[in-house]
Amino acid sequence: MDVSTPPARIGDLHDLCAFLDDSPSPWHVVDTARRRLTAEGFTDAAADPSAAWMGDGFAVRDGSIVAWRRGTSAAAGFHIVGAHTDSPGLRIKPNPDLDVLGWQQLAVEVYGGTLLNSWLDRDLGIAGRVVTTDGPRLVAVREPVCRIPQLAIHLDREVNERGLVLDKQAHLSPVWGTGDVMPLRAWLAGRLGTEHDRIVTWDLGLFDITTASILGGDGSLLSSGRLDNQLSCWAAVSALVQAAPTATHSVIALFDHEEVGSESSTGAAGPLLEHVLERLVLAGGGGRADYLDALAGSRCVSADNAHAVHPNYMELHDPGHRPLVNHGPAIKLNSNQRYATSAASAAWMIAAFDAAGVPWQRFVSRNTMPCGSTIGPITATRLGIDTVDVGVPQLSMHSARELCGAADPAYLRRGLVSFLNGD
Ligand code: ZN
Repeated sequence: MDVSTPPARIGDLHDLCAFLDDSPSPWHVVDTARRRLTAEGFTDAAADPSAAWMGDGFAVRDGSIVAWRRGTSAAAGFHIVGAHTDSPGLRIKPNPDLDVLGWQQLAVEVYGGTLLNSWLDRDLGIAGRVVTTDGPRLVAVREPVCRIPQLAIHLDREVNERGLVLDKQAHLSPVWGTGDVMPLRAWLAGRLGTEHDRIVTWDLGLFDITTASILGGDGSLLSSGRLDNQLSCWAAVSALVQAAPTATHSVIALFDHEEVGSESSTGAAGPLLEHVLERLVLAGGGGRADYLDALAGSRCVSADNAHAVHPNYMELHDPGHRPLVNHGPAIKLNSNQRYATSAASAAWMIAAFDAAGVPWQRFVSRNTMPCGSTIGPITATRLGIDTVDVGVPQLSMHSARELCGAADPAYLRRGLVSFLNGD
């Protein structure tokens, strides 16, 4: 046996790893989705509105994208899959250049509920979008350009007993050079092949340059940055591409800004999805009443990863509702409506999973643990659509590098295809 040969990346898993590696920022997720949809014959509504709205199309707004397969019945409702494109991390501030005792550093801002310690001692690249005088450009420097060095244990003797305490302002600035001041703007201009005064501003963040990998002696796990929630974005895009034409409109909505509350022009609390849905009805000759009727007959799956039970912390889950990796997606319930799932919506999702032969589980938090939330309740509240929250169980949520079962992403994708193809 050649022990140096890694387990093969096969089929779906290979495709998911490529999606993750192609997408180091929300804007890259949108670009990856756009490229995949275009290759499958979907039309950009900005390029050819009539073809897009009367067929298979998509609409891009910054870090969000909504895509659809038009239903065969003009008055039919919508089957919607929602997910989010953003992940917690560190964003580069607009005046980033720090010069401290010969160290060149970058000023960063914490984005979302980041597990800060996970960003230490990693080789980090820079990715996002840069707006030049010619317009926005995607940037991904997949090289080790930054690192946030952890303090040596000799200078923090009780760190293993008391835990690591990080001051978000003082302790997170990465080093990225020594010697003379190295303005980020000039460095970016060099990378982009432009003049530094043509760079107007940017949305840039740091990312771990380590690529997605299959892990375990049995190859049964998947390790990567941004599994929450690019895994669900991949499943949604793949499911839409594979979905058959049905009477209902099949729609996927991948939103930015979920990790910071979704309250933005392109977030789930903004108007993007409802504008697209109404436009689909209007394009078919329907009116406002037809749109409202269509909403009433619609369903939404909000796909966002769930907490798998952790073998070292099993007491943190409710004993009767602890998701296991590689046992299928979890249906997430919370009677206080932190999740949008109802008994009725759970039932039609279970039927979709069962029809596809996909295993599934139930997740409910311990009463003593605060429950997270996601885009499901926001979509349900805004549009009045029957919604279910589901997600692949994972560990290390909001770490720079997360972990899930290798079988679960394809289970989710198959379940979503079944949902989109349903009545
Ligand atoms: Zn999430």
